[in-house]
Amino acid sequence: MTTTFDQLGLSQPVLQALDLKGYTEPTPIQEQAIPAVLKGRDLLGIAQTGTGKTAAFMLPSIDRLREADRQTPFKSCRMLVLAPTRELAGQIAANAKEYGALAGLKVQSIVGGTSVNKDRNKLHRGTDILVATPGRLLDLVDQKAFNLSGVEVLVLDEADQMLDLGFIHALRKINDLVPAERQTLFFSATMPKQIKELVNKYCRNPVQVSVTPAATTAERIEQYLLMVQQDEKQTLLGMILKGQHDIPGKLERVLVFTRTKHGADRVVKKLAQIGVQANAIHGNKSQPQRERALSEFKKAKTPVLVATDVAARGIDIPGVSHVINYELPNVPEQYVHRIGRTARAGADGIAIAFCAEDERAYLKDIRKLTDAEFERLPLPENFRAVVEGVGPTKPAPKQQRQRVKPKPFGAGRGRGGANAGGQDQGEARKPKNKHPNRAGKPNRAGKPNHDGQSGERSENRSGGRPSGPGGQGQQGGRGKPGGGNRRRFNNRGGKPGGNRASG
Ligand code: AMP
Repeated sequence: MTTTFDQLGLSQPVLQALDLKGYTEPTPIQEQAIPAVLKGRDLLGIAQTGTGKTAAFMLPSIDRLREADRQTPFKSCRMLVLAPTRELAGQIAANAKEYGALAGLKVQSIVGGTSVNKDRNKLHRGTDILVATPGRLLDLVDQKAFNLSGVEVLVLDEADQMLDLGFIHALRKINDLVPAERQTLFFSATMPKQIKELVNKYCRNPVQVSVTPAATTAERIEQYLLMVQQDEKQTLLGMILKGQHDIPGKLERVLVFTRTKHGADRVVKKLAQIGVQANAIHGNKSQPQRERALSEFKKAKTPVLVATDVAARGIDIPGVSHVINYELPNVPEQYVHRIGRTARAGADGIAIAFCAEDERAYLKDIRKLTDAEFERLPLPENFRAVVEGVGPTKPAPKQQRQRVKPKPFGAGRGRGGANAGGQDQGEARKPKNKHPNRAGKPNRAGKPNHDGQSGERSENRSGGRPSGPGGQGQQGGRGKPGGGNRRRFNNRGGKPGGNRASG
């Protein structure tokens, strides 16, 4: 028998809010975490975004705050949630507002890159729940505009990511500032040594919950592979986005991953040159730019978002139909994170990997780690002509790949069947939990990573998704009439030829 939220002991106002959200049953991490948190236990959750962990810590905490019924402390908060990125902080705060809508709790968020004065003013009277990035929080503490003496519940979300972003000192300092008598809920996708040390500092005898074995790629994601030369990837991407290549699934929202910020900007610029509108999201973008890019993507106004790993981590965007790995990550765990941006909360998704000759080693690592089965897709029929600038860019006729036919969005797609693409499918591969040291692996283009964003770590991450229902409806009904299974994203119409990328 499946567990219901009711059975987990949550209060009526929270249950009503969940009803409004349309959640019918808890995800595995919610099922495990909620009863322990309601009892006041510390928690160590090993899970990544996409598993429903925000609700796992937020729902029972809202109930505990309600029950304790203390006054909102002046210049302080009762629940402090630390998150690594502005986007994740914004998302958590938005969720907290929804989950706590009927509980009468005040929710605020503060993140870097915005006006400190505004933050100071809005926190003057204190808040019940504060979601913050560590740097901005300490700015306000240092200015004596805020203190942590009122904290009853402390949440560290994506702790490994906070470490990657250099927040270790901030986290040590915050630990000294919060009351010893408190509840700590600690979440991390991976457990390297430094994280274990932090857990020991922050938590007291935590209940440990872990969801999905590490490094299993989501079963509902169909994974495809396109072998393409590095300097021809831009042309290929352009053709796909313009509906000139017969790829599986209907393009709704496409998230494209590059390894560097410069790479992301370059892809966006080149797409604009062929009339495909896209936004980039990465660490060099200002907060308003990031927010605008996300909001346009969510509304499908600009349905192509080009992102780096760090920028996209933790972002919850429902309705991503395709994840395109424009460049393969040199850390295979990042691949799991990337493709996990599609197939959120039970929906189906499609991941397409562009692999150049010099990325074969990365592909091998990804296969070793995830046991992924890639189905190989051919290049567009007229690809060479387009690359050489002599070919038409009109939509390609339905072509050689026979097994995987695009279906209307929302129709279930099976994976099985024989291999159309040949050699890359079906090799026996063992799942691995620990990934060996990748030192000495080829670096793409032999260059250092410009933005240092690739997050080199060899710990595993889970590729889990919430197993609860409610996902299926996420993407349905968004398709525009007409256009069959393809959707072109070009807003100026295709220019003939000449869209060769310079790489
Ligand atoms: P999170 O891991 O917290 O980022 O959540 C991932 C996504 O799952 C978010 O879009 C949530 O709104 C959604 N979600 C969380 N819990 C449930 C649930 N029990 N049923 C359906 N969707 C959920």
